[in-house]
Amino acid sequence: MRKNKLIVANWKVNGSKTLCEEYRNLSDFQTRSDLVVCPPYPYLGQFNTHSISLGSQNVSIYQSGSHTSHVSVTMLKEFGCEYCVIGHSEVRDTFGDSDSIVRAKARLLLNEKITPIICVGEDESIRNSGQHLDFVNNQLKQGLPYFEFGESVKEIVIAYEPIWAIGTGNTASLTQIEDMAREIQSMVAYFYQHFSHLSVTVLYGGSVNPNNAKEILSQPSVDGLLIGGASLVPRNMEQILSFC
Ligand code: PEP
Repeated sequence: MRKNKLIVANWKVNGSKTLCEEYRNLSDFQTRSDLVVCPPYPYLGQFNTHSISLGSQNVSIYQSGSHTSHVSVTMLKEFGCEYCVIGHSEVRDTFGDSDSIVRAKARLLLNEKITPIICVGEDESIRNSGQHLDFVNNQLKQGLPYFEFGESVKEIVIAYEPIWAIGTGNTASLTQIEDMAREIQSMVAYFYQHFSHLSVTVLYGGSVNPNNAKEILSQPSVDGLLIGGASLVPRNMEQILSFC
């Protein structure tokens, strides 16, 4: 289990040089947390501080070549990315990323020693049908990367983001969050049962804000947060970081 809470800001297609500067000043507010910022690609070069880690919102499946608009894992490495979000529901939806693509991207990232943040989560109809645990279990079984023989991976990060909670203001209840986070912890530990040094980090994402972050962070199986909309306001982040 990781020592500090992991707080990941996903700016999506938002942000500016000014927001980058405001984030650089957030370093004073970090207590027992590790802050990762995932800005749009053009802003990746704007963070030269050691107290904020850089993450990407996605990565290409291609290493190089004629694939207009793609950004490779090597480029992310060159810009200092330590984390990369993959399998976000918006990316699955817009670009058709399947679990097997998520697995392949995770493998490419691990090759460059970038920690994948693998997003999983059910939509509303699956939640209402009571199949959410099976659904997420299946996403993990199909999407988790295999490790190479002798490879030592320190951390794997899974973000539980119920689709019905993303950007809707309908945060999952504490019981729903804890039940799923606990399941994910045990599913992933089982998948990697032969890798005893691996730390499994489970994040919750879906309409997190300063009013609900403290309680969510206090759930025993939750190691951190993936924050979209609320992360665009630095004052929100100051407050959320102060709960860690
Ligand atoms: C997200 O997009 O990863 C997310 C959690 O968004 P929001 O916090 O806005 O629901």
